Amino acid sequence: MMVGESLVVSLCLSFRKASHVRLEWGGARAHSTLLHERGFVIGEKHRRGAEGWARLPAHACRPGMAVTRAMLATTAVGMSASLCRAVMEGLLTRWRTLPAQATCRLQLSGSIPCGLHHCASGRRKRLVLSRMFQPQNLREDQVLSLEGRSGELTCKSQRLMLQVGLIHPASPGCYHLLPYTVRAMEKLVRVIDQEMQAIGGQKVNMPSLSSAELWRATNRWDLMGKELLRLRDRHGKEYCLGPTHEEAVTALVASQKTLSYKQLPFLLYQVTRKFRDEPRPRFGLLRGREFYMKDMYTFDSSTEAAWHTYSLVCGAYCSLFNRLGLPFVKVQADVGSIGGMMSHEFQLPVDVGEDQLAICPSCSFSANMETLDLSQMNCPVCQGPLTKTKGIEVGHTFYLGTKYSSIFNAQFTNVHGKPSLAEMGCYGLGVTRILAAAIEVLSTEDCIRWPGLLAPYQVCLIPPKRGSKEEGATELLGSLHDHIAEALPQLHGEVLLDDRTHLTIGNRLKDANKLGYPFVIIAGKRALEDPSHFEVWCQNTSEVVFLTKEGVVELLSTVQVV
Ligand SMILES: [Zn+2]
Repeated sequence: MMVGESLVVSLCLSFRKASHVRLEWGGARAHSTLLHERGFVIGEKHRRGAEGWARLPAHACRPGMAVTRAMLATTAVGMSASLCRAVMEGLLTRWRTLPAQATCRLQLSGSIPCGLHHCASGRRKRLVLSRMFQPQNLREDQVLSLEGRSGELTCKSQRLMLQVGLIHPASPGCYHLLPYTVRAMEKLVRVIDQEMQAIGGQKVNMPSLSSAELWRATNRWDLMGKELLRLRDRHGKEYCLGPTHEEAVTALVASQKTLSYKQLPFLLYQVTRKFRDEPRPRFGLLRGREFYMKDMYTFDSSTEAAWHTYSLVCGAYCSLFNRLGLPFVKVQADVGSIGGMMSHEFQLPVDVGEDQLAICPSCSFSANMETLDLSQMNCPVCQGPLTKTKGIEVGHTFYLGTKYSSIFNAQFTNVHGKPSLAEMGCYGLGVTRILAAAIEVLSTEDCIRWPGLLAPYQVCLIPPKRGSKEEGATELLGSLHDHIAEALPQLHGEVLLDDRTHLTIGNRLKDANKLGYPFVIIAGKRALEDPSHFEVWCQNTSEVVFLTKEGVVELLSTVQVV
């Protein structure tokens, strides 16, 4: 590609069974507008929902930038329209944020210097398991002694995450997040960024230290009680470690004195650590005292516009959970200490959940039981009987109206030139909680299962045991590794080699199964056949297949990486 020219980026990406993905533009206009706002020129054909293309203007190109179709290659078998849109958004975002150097590196993946890569001359660098920092505590009694304080493990995700070295306890309700977990979390944050930015979200980062004055203004310094973690600085000034940021963000927007209705809505969000002094932290990452949350705050110029924003964010949450493959219910919820006029929770139905939900099997009504009159347990919409279930709250939305904007005077100039208060909403997603809840919902008693998009590594390669009859296949697996790296650059950094060859294949397969890599590839007896056949364990379909090198690449070309 030439710098200084318009660059045509094909969005019709190759996939397994045909040469193009036909992008179905459910709301063609909306999608075209979205891309247009981001500086892309949309092809005419696009508007009719036909096979799409978009052209990136020259000003977005940087010297030295090179983009190849292979870099943008992804897979799209059976993608829904919203998924296509999300994938496209992700690709474009990723591509545009890649520094020129990183772009080059991606293409020359063999030359990235990295401490985790095993270096051997004449070979591609390989990511090897033996160098991972991953304290495994695979025996149950070892895990019990880790959490000796409470003397009990309270749920499956907590036990499994401790066993395989995803987390390590630091103090009650606080955990070290270890490398696999951080990788999964970074992927989750990328998916969240895509969804939030697709509806116009702008990412900010507000301080964790939040001054008491702000909280006194809303009376929440007293209302929040002991849940608020409070501290004083050397001058005796009081602060809390923020559990949420309504006060901070409203004061921030209020400080902008010349806002016009033309600039609204603002959808400001962040992904940061939050703090809550839980009386009894439990369930590992599900109820900790320190955790990651995505919190978004929206500012609109009218109630109608604010309701529209509210439904946009709810839609983005649905899209997020659908992409992760997590079963969820959206229920009407109590506004609690946040306040406001309307609230919904996104819940994953699972037994360990601490919320009681009532769902109507005959109509779409569903609610947190807190919101219902318990003397009358019939559906308020169709009067039918309600089904009760337990859930883990993973998302929460609030329509706030002017509750906070009136206190901090967050206003803008309306269409008549008069000052007017912003209509607000706030929207949370428990980031570390979604990870733990997904593991809770998807895993078996003994083995972790991830949403495919979030698996820390997509592929684990297991070479033969040292000194075994199959040892000759070691090099074949090495060349398979290099072949994957060359043919599928999108899997860069996703392929891990279990080089602990003093262990049998069986033992390493057991570990791999426990860790839940979506694909485990073994070089066993049949690798020595001509042509070589590798044993491939596919986690999502529970299939074991024998494939040639080309077959493996074809299979892995369908893997989605975020
Ligand atoms: Zn009903």
